[in-house]
Amino acid sequence: MIRSDEFYMHRALDQAHLAMAAGEVPVGAVVVDAEGEIVGAGHNAPLSSCDPSGHAEVRALRDAGQRLGNYRLEGCTLYVTLEPCMMCTGTMVHARIQRLVYAAAEPRAGMVESKANLLAQPWFNHHIDVTGGVLAAQASKLLKQFFADKR
Ligand SMILES: [Zn+2]
Repeated sequence: MIRSDEFYMHRALDQAHLAMAAGEVPVGAVVVDAEGEIVGAGHNAPLSSCDPSGHAEVRALRDAGQRLGNYRLEGCTLYVTLEPCMMCTGTMVHARIQRLVYAAAEPRAGMVESKANLLAQPWFNHHIDVTGGVLAAQASKLLKQFFADKR
């Protein structure tokens, strides 16, 4: 059953809360297949996993790949609470996802609208549809709260 973008973004926000509880920057992601089923989830965890690639998107894509037994996630949509970075944008192209939905923009390192739009480059041989701004206020509030607590 296919639900709304807000429904799935709330699940990504649940993942962001898990990151927050673990002392990681609160970013969360879920992967949804063409039937609307959540097939992968992940939260930001580079500190606890000692992994520079431990971003929410990469972890959710890895989870989905393992669950589906295929690194190519054709027809899937990735929901993430923050605009993806360079690495995550590249990983999404490798995974051949169909659509990206994100919440808040990332002015310092976002590679979908803020610093560049990597997904719009003609030299990528795979096109990903993009929707930004879904539940952006909730996602930003969580990030602001995290950084305020750190000070
Ligand atoms: Zn990233």
